[in-house]
Amino acid sequence: MDELSHFIGGKRVKGGSGRFADVFNPATGEVQAKVPLASKSEVDAAVAAAASAQVAWGATNPQKRARVMMEFVRLINRDMDKLAEALSREHGKTIPDAKGDVQRGLEVVEFCIGAPHLLKGEYTDGAGPGIDMYSMRQPLGVVAGITPFNFPAMIPMWKMAPALSCGNAFILKPSERDPSVPLMLAELLKEAGLPDGVLQVVNGDKEAVDALLDNETVQAIGFVGSTPIAQYIYSRGCAAGKRVQCFGGAKNHMIIMPDADMDQAADALIGAGYGAAGERCMAISVAVPVGDATADALIEKLVPRIEKLKVAPYTAGNDVDYGPVVTAAAKANIEKLVQSGIDQGAKLVVDGRGFKLQGYENGFFVGPHLFDHVTTDMDIYRKEIFGPVLSQVRAKTYEEALSYAMDHEYGNGTAIFTRDGDTARDFASRINIGMVGINVPIPVPLAYHTFGGWKKSGFGDLNQHGPDSFRFYTRTKTVTARWPSGLKEGGEFHFKAMD
Ligand code: NAD
Repeated sequence: MDELSHFIGGKRVKGGSGRFADVFNPATGEVQAKVPLASKSEVDAAVAAAASAQVAWGATNPQKRARVMMEFVRLINRDMDKLAEALSREHGKTIPDAKGDVQRGLEVVEFCIGAPHLLKGEYTDGAGPGIDMYSMRQPLGVVAGITPFNFPAMIPMWKMAPALSCGNAFILKPSERDPSVPLMLAELLKEAGLPDGVLQVVNGDKEAVDALLDNETVQAIGFVGSTPIAQYIYSRGCAAGKRVQCFGGAKNHMIIMPDADMDQAADALIGAGYGAAGERCMAISVAVPVGDATADALIEKLVPRIEKLKVAPYTAGNDVDYGPVVTAAAKANIEKLVQSGIDQGAKLVVDGRGFKLQGYENGFFVGPHLFDHVTTDMDIYRKEIFGPVLSQVRAKTYEEALSYAMDHEYGNGTAIFTRDGDTARDFASRINIGMVGINVPIPVPLAYHTFGGWKKSGFGDLNQHGPDSFRFYTRTKTVTARWPSGLKEGGEFHFKAMD
């Protein structure tokens, strides 16, 4: 069995704590590797080494840092197939979906190539007599990212690319469920020219996270994962005086107006509800049709589409719609919530219980489920299921549908399907949710915009990627300068290029 490692000082380093976690192949249920869980002293040593490496990296000019990102882009594209395979093997998602995971991270690396422009400060010429004033964006020092299992390529890249481009050293604590791709990305960054020690990948669990929270050298923490852990890290990190942004769970509603194109809406719900086995923070888990006729029409369109879904391991071809969920515990949690839906009176229209795949009986596969007549007091409505389970909540009016999404504690993403511009505008303007789709079911913003939820889906005041990430990973210093006049010695006329 493979023993994975950390990536410290520019190379793979064996774990020293004697503690390990199992890494499964979710399709077969077998343990395929063990990943070391770092102790506090291993984390502290990695942070100290990163602090030494950061000094020269922070002083490297932004263009040179951006060139490392440029080469990183090339290397990721070169190794795309290898990365996607490793990702699918540990996560369980299909190969096209794994490539999408890498691609959406890669786009943020591409955005970071613009770091020299993004890091430009502000300048006021002649703020007073002989006085100029300027602001600089400077790196924070050592910063850390703690990331979830469901996007093991994309979210580490969302964190490390801006942090490194700003001149910080970065400690990545990836999910212990699928740690191979983050290690491969660290190797690619080294190959791209990143100096040793500037990026450290420390595998671990709560002990490693707590060590990062307690380490005074760590200036900022970016977290993505479930809401209870997001709240824990946010409060403890802030109390320790760190800059913290934490992105949590979700329960994304899609409102379907009576004038929507029903085929388009049903197709959108299939991809957004069941893609990646529902293990996406931007998955649609609640469909809210307005009016019983819309609800009935939607069910009629959804059922045959759901029955056609191909649930299989990623190795079964590119027509697989989704694969297994990540662990047996995740599967058990989904099954428990499905049972609660039945017990609490929702109507199970498509029953995915007991799904088995020949040859993969021990895999963590979950068949697709569709509930109708779900009400807001049910656990399947209130809780994040993170599985292939779509709940339909019927609303009588647009205002009622809007209020469901508004009143839910999560506020990551939402969508409305309609042909009416007035309704769409009203929805986008009034909804208290961070990312809104209009006839777009999964409105993940592109790299040059920012990504972040509201309410219990996001803690902290800046979003991920886009210009916000450059604000999060830098601090502003403002200089006021006065120079006495009368000391001019004449000009220099040759034009010196930046080296
Ligand atoms: P998780 O909260 O279990 O784990 C996330 C990270 O926190 C991992 O690195 C894990 O090792 C660490 N961790 C787990 N328990 C901890 C503890 N007690 N103390 C300290 N650290 C701990 O989340 P997950 O299951 O890996 O990911 C799925 C969740 O992430 C879902 O809730 C999903 O909605 C959310 N998510 C949110 C976004 C977003 O941008 N809002 C994006 C992707 C995933």
